[in-house]
Amino acid sequence: MDNSFKFSAVVAGAGISGATVAARLAAAGLRVLVLEAKAHAGGNCYDCRDAGTGILVHKYGTHIFHTDDKRAWDFLSRFTAWHPYFHKVLAQIDGALVPVPFNLNSVRRVFPPVLAARIEGKLLERFGFGARATILELRGSADADLRLLGDYVYEKVFLHYTLKQWGKTPEEIDPAVTARVPIFASRDDGYFRDRYQAIPREGYTALIGNMLAHPNIELRLNTPWEAARACVPAGTPIFFTGAIDEFFGFKFGELPYRSVSFEFVEYAREYFQPVACVNYPCHFDFTRIGEYKHFLGEKSPKTVVSFEYPAAFERGKNERCYPIANAETAALYARYADEARRAFPQTRFLGRLGDYKYYDMDKAVLRALDAAEEFLRAF
Ligand code: UDP
Repeated sequence: MDNSFKFSAVVAGAGISGATVAARLAAAGLRVLVLEAKAHAGGNCYDCRDAGTGILVHKYGTHIFHTDDKRAWDFLSRFTAWHPYFHKVLAQIDGALVPVPFNLNSVRRVFPPVLAARIEGKLLERFGFGARATILELRGSADADLRLLGDYVYEKVFLHYTLKQWGKTPEEIDPAVTARVPIFASRDDGYFRDRYQAIPREGYTALIGNMLAHPNIELRLNTPWEAARACVPAGTPIFFTGAIDEFFGFKFGELPYRSVSFEFVEYAREYFQPVACVNYPCHFDFTRIGEYKHFLGEKSPKTVVSFEYPAAFERGKNERCYPIANAETAALYARYADEARRAFPQTRFLGRLGDYKYYDMDKAVLRALDAAEEFLRAF
């Protein structure tokens, strides 16, 4: 990369955020260089065929695309056909497999019929059919039965899972995190309520590959930003989707993350479990087991699952998966964001690691589309 540098913008990171920016800029006629540290594109959405079974597995854990936003859906639909898939999660609780988020079916499954009917009546009366309630609302309720439900779900679904997942109690983490999984006064066993829910028919790696397969895009794999940055001419607009603290050499300190290690296990039987995800809130050291053949309805006499073991993120040892939202990390992130605005006005930070935000895939796409479009308006 010298004076023959012919790119209008550089994107660091070929995950879903970077690929979205690159695809949008390329479609507008700009030449884009995409730098990716890993040997593959796809970021944490990366999937590939399991060697033993041929089943498509998500190497960094189960990813289910879901959105209420037509713009995100339409944008990605240019690059993939979809397999409609409605995610259901069961949790192993008191010897039963119970739908999560907790709903009226879950109530019937775990409580004796008389109590279940009473709780159901009160949920419907207090919140209305189809409404959602957070665990905090139920535990703070004036009604003893609703409090009982709240305390039960807190103990059996949230407390131990959250201790494993975050190393902290639900009270010690940002309430928005557990509010992702509310309680529903309905019989819908679906994990999400979004209008669009699907898996890319050829997988996420193929989707992101298609996004990057534009003649205006050059993708360089095995190219960490640190190794390439000196060769990018000053003033080149940069979209940086890596970790913002790393970009600045951790000068204000390190932003913490939770990581997850995945143990993939093959079984010589058709199915391991009835749905793609079974959570183990109260048992074992793993949080959940994902069984991949459910996603695309793949047929095989064998199956492959992953056990998820959460852990602290350690640089060089594992991957950054979840930003940890609290007042301290918000203040640290703000110092980096201020420094970015001050010293690197040509560099836009985005994605889970650039914004230090627990984005779902659709939110990452929307954030990246906004960043690309804002840039194009000023270009
Ligand atoms: N959670 C829980 N028990 C469950 C499912 C979720 O305690 O059975 C909590 C946990 O703190 C988790 C958060 O809710 O980190 C969000 O769950 P979600 O399934 O959205 O997490 P993700 O799929 O993004 O890992």
